Amino acid sequence: MSESFDAAALAVAGVRGLKPYQPGKPIEELERELGIRGSIKLASNENPRGPGPAVLAAISAAAAGASRYPDGGAFRLRARLGAELGVDAGQITLGNGSNDVLELVAHAFLGPGRSAVASAHAFIVYPLATRARGAEFIEVPARQWTADPDALVAAIRADTSVLFLANPNNPTGTWLTTPVLESLLARVPRRVIVVLDEAYFEYVDAADYPDGLRLLAAHPNLVVARTFSKIHGLAALRVGYGVSSPAVADLLNRVRQPFNVNALAQAAAVAALDDRAYVVESRRLNVAGMQQVRAGLDRLGLAAIPSLGNFVTFDCGRPARPIYEALLREGVILRPIAEYGMPNHLRLTIGLEAENERALAALARVCGGA
Ligand SMILES: *Cc1c(COP(=O)(O)O)cnc(C)c1O
Repeated sequence: MSESFDAAALAVAGVRGLKPYQPGKPIEELERELGIRGSIKLASNENPRGPGPAVLAAISAAAAGASRYPDGGAFRLRARLGAELGVDAGQITLGNGSNDVLELVAHAFLGPGRSAVASAHAFIVYPLATRARGAEFIEVPARQWTADPDALVAAIRADTSVLFLANPNNPTGTWLTTPVLESLLARVPRRVIVVLDEAYFEYVDAADYPDGLRLLAAHPNLVVARTFSKIHGLAALRVGYGVSSPAVADLLNRVRQPFNVNALAQAAAVAALDDRAYVVESRRLNVAGMQQVRAGLDRLGLAAIPSLGNFVTFDCGRPARPIYEALLREGVILRPIAEYGMPNHLRLTIGLEAENERALAALARVCGGA
């Protein structure tokens, strides 16, 4: 006897309506599909330099211990991070990427009958993590692609338990200044956990940009999330972390998988913190590349949104999807962001100088004079 089987009907309500996260297109996938070689990917805000030699050596050394479970408490990495950041190791929650930290917050603080607030055009993992827990996601209109602090505060309801805010934001690159963020935090009730997502913190060079860690003392409801995926060049290894009050960290640790950060990733992250020259050079390369790309976009008449990250989002002046697809045929992978409510924009990650040049030349061919 065959019984009908409807998997979707069995899923919890929050999961039923989800659309999976759409990552940037991998180079191998593009080249497999089009039968081409030598493509470049400027689509996922990765560090274009590849990992440094000290990190590679640390990974090799750690590989010899691969038959053992990793240190679930990640003693060395948390101690090293604590020293680096000037916080207690007990304030740090490690994640399998900072994505995992966002999930841990949702797991601990969201559920049916609760809601989370975030800006429009913000990182798409916020609605995903919220809805997966059966909570409601409240999207707040932005102003000039920037989170609107007054509107965020006004959107907080009695059932709101989390506010997500990326600073700078991805995919727009926009940010809130120190006084604006401080005033926002002062107006958020303490019963609301504020996740301040600082994935691009180490790239920022702006005097008015706030350091979330300095705000922790005054705001026990704050979780600052950072990552090794961006400037530290470890996106494949999946290491990120949250810094919070020890009480919040304790809650996040209760829902954390015991071995969520593997041993190779832990060793690589320690080595990455020790390699300050790599970070300095990555920042320098990004500043130069940002100037190069901004000037190139200007020449093409493509309006860019000012960005503090290692990426820039520009207006194609018409639907961006066909432009994205034409660029793929040129072997250049950028990121379409229609699902972020920006169907006419593309996001470009700052790459090596030659990669930036190649992307600009392809853009000139595909949409010059747009
Ligand atoms: C890239 C990014 C992250 C983190 O990614 P992980 O690789 O999971 O650490 C988090 N937030 C934003 C806004 C990002 O752009």
